[in-house]
Amino acid sequence: LDPNPERLTQPEKDIEKVLRPQFFEDFRGQFKILENLKIFVEAAKLRGEALDHVLLHGPPGLGKTTLSHIIANEMGTGIKITSGPVLDKPGDLAGLLTNLNDGDILFIDEIHRLSPVVEEYLYSAMEDFKIDIMLETGPNARSVQISLSPFTLIGATTRSGLLTAPLRARFGINSRLQYYDAKLLTDIVLRSAHILKTPINDEGAYEIARRSRGTPRIANALLRRTRDFAQIKGNGEIDTKIAKYALDALNVDEYGLDEMDNRILMTIIDKFKGGPVGLKTIATAVGEDEGTIEEVYEPFLIQEGFLMRTSRGRECTDLAYTHLGKTNIKGNTLF
Ligand code: ATP
Repeated sequence: LDPNPERLTQPEKDIEKVLRPQFFEDFRGQFKILENLKIFVEAAKLRGEALDHVLLHGPPGLGKTTLSHIIANEMGTGIKITSGPVLDKPGDLAGLLTNLNDGDILFIDEIHRLSPVVEEYLYSAMEDFKIDIMLETGPNARSVQISLSPFTLIGATTRSGLLTAPLRARFGINSRLQYYDAKLLTDIVLRSAHILKTPINDEGAYEIARRSRGTPRIANALLRRTRDFAQIKGNGEIDTKIAKYALDALNVDEYGLDEMDNRILMTIIDKFKGGPVGLKTIATAVGEDEGTIEEVYEPFLIQEGFLMRTSRGRECTDLAYTHLGKTNIKGNTLF
């Protein structure tokens, strides 16, 4: 149930593939983004051109990879997948780029983690579909320019703030994915249950959905775990009762906050008088990586009103105190 994609196990990745919507019509939510993408895809197809480069940003598990596959399917093109940290040197990128066919998609996950040399190398590829490659080394070394097939780069990032301005400027389409509401997640859970041939009623699906941190990846993961409880502790069908039982056993609380969410809030309140306190200090205190707190946990806690980000650091809101059954001493004083 770890929301961090880097910690997904292989069986979890395989199941994600099975549950991944393949075309626009299967994809739930993100209406505005989808509406625009449909038009851009249609127009590019009519002109017989590659789609403009696309930047997708937002917290993990909201569908960036899924959307990229859908775009390739809708365009009828191939897709090659890589990620920022994997592309060590320009040669790695050159190998990928020269193997793309007309209109193909190159998906670079975690694009904010590209090394500066690789990033710079990408500029001319994105802009003119040309790259320079070095032939031979030593005194005979020379660089030749080669043309690439027109392609679409889809960059995904959880931290758009870390992208350099020149890279960001090279994306014609720029979309920020939002957390999903419980209604949409209910649809996603029902669809996934259908694919997994798991009996479930609407109320059971809603119970899972509303406790999934607004994230389809988590909704699907909770569905699979709840299915286990339904099989062993119930009659195989997921209803509200078994969903509640399973989610409590998995330490997912009524608001959908998981153990780490609660630990972060509890730590800020107990150890730092509710804040403001710096991110680094929180990370050390809860024993979690700073980037993961900032990219994965914090956005949801802020959106749901448990946490505030101020110029002096992170601060718990009254809702966080109420949720954890604590009293906000600061709020009770006159000064
Ligand atoms: P990361 O950047 O962390 O890899 P991501 O944003 O690329 O995450 P995906 O891998 O696309 O997320 O989605 C995670 C899972 O959630 C997939 O299995 C997919 O089936 C499901 N999913 C995501 N968005 C939707 C959606 N809108 N409708 C249905 N299922 C979805």
